[in-house]
Amino acid sequence: MTGYYHSVTLDISKCKGCTNCIKGCPTEAIRVRNGKAQILQDKCIDCGECIRICPNQAKYAVYDSLEKLKEFKFKIALPAPSLFAQFKENVSKEQILNALYKAGFDEVYEVALAAEEVSIAIREYIKNSSIRPLISSSCPAVLRLIRVRFPALIENIIPVKSPMEIAAKRAKEIVSAKLGIPDMDIGTVFLSPCPAKVTAVKQPIGTLKSYVDAVVPVNVIYGEILKNLGKGSYQTIFKRANGLGVGWGRSGGENLAIGWGNNLSVDGIHNCIEVLEEIEMGKLSDIDYVELQACNGGCIGGALMVENRFVARVKLRRMSEKLGNNPNFDENEIKISIKNAFYNMEGPITGEVNYGLDGNIAKAIEKMELLEKTLKGLPGLDCGSCGSPNCRALAEDIVLGRANETDCVFKLRDRVRQLAKEVLDLSQKLPPTMDTDGGENNETG
Ligand code: SF4
Ligand code: SF4
Repeated sequence: MTGYYHSVTLDISKCKGCTNCIKGCPTEAIRVRNGKAQILQDKCIDCGECIRICPNQAKYAVYDSLEKLKEFKFKIALPAPSLFAQFKENVSKEQILNALYKAGFDEVYEVALAAEEVSIAIREYIKNSSIRPLISSSCPAVLRLIRVRFPALIENIIPVKSPMEIAAKRAKEIVSAKLGIPDMDIGTVFLSPCPAKVTAVKQPIGTLKSYVDAVVPVNVIYGEILKNLGKGSYQTIFKRANGLGVGWGRSGGENLAIGWGNNLSVDGIHNCIEVLEEIEMGKLSDIDYVELQACNGGCIGGALMVENRFVARVKLRRMSEKLGNNPNFDENEIKISIKNAFYNMEGPITGEVNYGLDGNIAKAIEKMELLEKTLKGLPGLDCGSCGSPNCRALAEDIVLGRANETDCVFKLRDRVRQLAKEVLDLSQKLPPTMDTDGGENNETG
């Protein structure tokens, strides 16, 4: 247990213990014991995969309610670029932004706009760094995966803040400067495609405190936007994002906007794990930059989205093309912001406190030997019917006292057979019974 915040949680009353989720979890963070699922807090990366998989809606994301908006005098919506792909193709970005004003926001700062300037900052960082490959910091589920499972790759993560953070920071700065509203009265609300972003705000990585004040999922704000589409237009004090910024909402969009280097775009958490393993083995040192997104298709595939991700992908691409690539930022000004460390993460990224088998190295070695021995005794079928995702995970659970050998149905069967044989052997050693109505002791005549 690490004490880390998790936005993905479990409604135990809805869980039927079906074990569907345990195989799909990329970090083997789920167990089913006594007919109910459990999430191992030190392994979960809040990717939301189990929310998608669970047929009983027992997994869900915790987020801020729309009521939280009332806490702020001046409310700024920060829509994720992927939001724009959730509506019919004839609905323009401007209409969606206008609907957000009507839904109760005083201003809307597009995260896609921030993505434009962050792309330039990333490009400059790659050019000046000798680390290869550098890894994108934009997907918090991937960041947590690296911290939990690939701590040796933490130094490959580019220490540039995500577009979500830069959007909140810029929006507050501009509103304060132009409208004279004090920082404490401004609330920035990120409209999120995923639970991982909720976690990134509540417990930021590489940043002391998030500039985002609340997170509302896309599937919650969706109905409000639909209701208000086409109801008026609003003047903004902000610029509007171009197609390159909007493209960040799908896999490949970040690299397209960076526009420099021998870069890779990878989507889907299992693919990300495969590529991270290769980077760990030193196989991809000829690659400059790797854009990794936990969701299939990128953020359009987030667990809190509404539209089918394949349809959304096409819509976002077409919208990006329509919007064009006219830059909103002067590169020289961005270079000044880079010099002033405007985009830098404020703190180091550290590995998660995960002691593995034991915090004490000697005991950890002992437990590892026990684990290997226990594993040899298991059938090696990785069937998952024990409630652990595979035999190795069950062996680990047994060593750590989270499970018993007889949780394995095959071991249980062997044990029952052995017990039955022992009972039979013992019964044969019993003295003859003292029957009263027949048998040897029955007296006749
Ligand atoms: S959110 Fe992801 S890592 Fe956490 S339990 Fe669910 S599937 Fe596993
Ligand atoms: S790919 Fe995007 S939507 Fe999916 S977990 Fe990462 S940031 Fe969230």
